[in-house]
Amino acid sequence: MMKRLLLSTAGSPGLAVVLLLAGTRLAALDAPRGVDPSKMDTRVSPCEDFYLYASGTWLANNPIPADRASWGAGSEMQEANFAVLKQILEDAAADRAAAPDSVKGKVGAFYRSGMDETRIEKDGRKPLEADFARIAAIRDRDSLAREIGRLHRMGTGTAFVFFVGQDAKSSTEQIAELYQGGLGLPDRDYYLSDDAAMRDVRRKYEAHVAKMFALAGDSREAAAANARRVLALETRLAKKSMTPVEQRDPNALYHRMSSEQLAQLAPGFSWKAYFAGVGLTEPGALGALNVNQPDFVREIGAMGRDVPLAEWKTYLRWGVLHSAAPFLSSSFVGENFAFFGKELYGQKQLRVRWKRVLSAVDSEIGEGLGQLYVERAFSPEAKAKAVAMVMNLKAALGDRIRTLDWIGEETRRQALRKLDAIAVKVGYPDKWRDYSRLVVDGGSYVANVRKAEEFEFQRNLDKIGKPLDRTEWGITTPTVDAYYNPTLNEIVFPAGILQPPFFDPKADDASNYGSIGGVIGHELTHGFDDEGRQFDAEGNLKNWWTEEDVRNYQDRGKAIAKQYSGYVVVDDLHINGDLTLGENIADIGGLKIAYLALQKALAAHPAPEKIDGFTADQRFFIAYAQGWRRNATPESLRVMIATDPHSPAPFRVRGPTSDTPEFSRAFACGKADGGGGGDTGGGAAAQIW
Ligand SMILES: [Zn+2]
Repeated sequence: MMKRLLLSTAGSPGLAVVLLLAGTRLAALDAPRGVDPSKMDTRVSPCEDFYLYASGTWLANNPIPADRASWGAGSEMQEANFAVLKQILEDAAADRAAAPDSVKGKVGAFYRSGMDETRIEKDGRKPLEADFARIAAIRDRDSLAREIGRLHRMGTGTAFVFFVGQDAKSSTEQIAELYQGGLGLPDRDYYLSDDAAMRDVRRKYEAHVAKMFALAGDSREAAAANARRVLALETRLAKKSMTPVEQRDPNALYHRMSSEQLAQLAPGFSWKAYFAGVGLTEPGALGALNVNQPDFVREIGAMGRDVPLAEWKTYLRWGVLHSAAPFLSSSFVGENFAFFGKELYGQKQLRVRWKRVLSAVDSEIGEGLGQLYVERAFSPEAKAKAVAMVMNLKAALGDRIRTLDWIGEETRRQALRKLDAIAVKVGYPDKWRDYSRLVVDGGSYVANVRKAEEFEFQRNLDKIGKPLDRTEWGITTPTVDAYYNPTLNEIVFPAGILQPPFFDPKADDASNYGSIGGVIGHELTHGFDDEGRQFDAEGNLKNWWTEEDVRNYQDRGKAIAKQYSGYVVVDDLHINGDLTLGENIADIGGLKIAYLALQKALAAHPAPEKIDGFTADQRFFIAYAQGWRRNATPESLRVMIATDPHSPAPFRVRGPTSDTPEFSRAFACGKADGGGGGDTGGGAAAQIW
């Protein structure tokens, strides 16, 4: 199961570790190939601040567009992908002859409903009336739980999250899971922190909830009172939620139990009625389940008993409003944006409609859109070249593991076994998702979104007790991102990120190894970061390390956490070195492995000439850094620091280069441990992989 890090909704949980270019994508078709010297600021010393040296001119000349919270290489790629996807969607929407049960017919009908502004405006809140009536009719604890189950089926995140995933300790078994959730704000701290900025966001959130209730028809007084109730209920959930750092410990999330044990853990909630509501009506259909956060679920039980039904009903109405808002008429969309876009992320303008609808098609029936995209945007030659690069990176990591001096022979043997078992997915799925059970008809936009959500929910639900399908993908084909999934022990690179400037079959090796090579190295290293290393070659949470090697690993991890916690991002906000540890280990290791892979690739040929005055090694590091160029609003950086396991872009350059002696040599920095971030490196201890 993937950890999707969506920017404006409560994310669904899971274990996969995503590279996250912060909702961004690629590919200026006429962009300069490989390294672009015009983006650099050579007045800055590469040894003092390599991030500014590599991209300073670009950073100064590329302010964040008004409809974005950040802007970087990944965003440019995303915009280029959007241009291709828009054409595809407009073709599909205009093709009235496409069979309604074909992928093109479904994608086209979905897009048409999203672009039908006249109808959406005319409908107003009408599409939600049936939900509100059903919530109003809740009369006891059973019907409350059943309704929460029904809302979960339709993708309305409320109270907690239910999904089917791989059992972490028995990775071929697929079981039901409960995960904490139900918060409108990004994280527990937003409800609980005394920090002035957090208190301010909280106050504005309450005002936003009240405005949404007013739009739904409540009187001003009732709306304000309802917003207070929602805040109180969510604050109770927040208090029992794990912190983002606590959620990084896979053992702390593992509590497999029977449904009887669940009923004992949280007796106040009508679990039987809930599971019937999600669609598990047959006796024995549920089986065992994993309760990721028992304290949180215990609280759901307590709240099932002591929160008055009227307050639960208010909270469910809010859940419906909140999840539907982006797909409703302009007053809902505008108010939703005013808080989540403007206040929370510092985005000045709403994105134009076609881009919002395109994103919805991508997240709701993405593999349908992906099929149409691949035909236009990814050649078999590009795939072959990308696969070859991944194999070179894998071989380089193997060399590295064989020669590391700080791990013992037994751990080394196991690490090589795990590396060998890592599955590789490149471009697009071998087997596309079967959408034959999804009906997209002439209903409203929000109805289509919910039908797609329900289709996905049922598809996921059907996996309970079934054999594992290893061919599935966790992100869509046009996505500018990549991931490692520990329970499948696989690395995945969709066509969306295998585009210029990240991956350009026409560019020199040094550029490609610095950019996409760094990405591939990053994902490979996730198999061996502080979290990923706890899973074995078969994707099971099972220790394969000697005690001494674990101790050594943890000492090195502490040095890296200390290094990154020293970085100041905005005002007095520091990176949380414990939250970002896994990503930072992957960045540092990824850069090293990509560098070693480049040396292997170059060894087969005569030494390359300088290009634009830079050696191959220098171009490698500049390409890496230019891939991370990004301007971001202070607001979005605040959210990132609180919730995101990735370090902000500048530190994905300054951190790893300052820990890499090969970088220091390439730019003659005269420091043994690197130097790209000044004197801030973690020293030799930062080199785990
Ligand atoms: Zn990552």
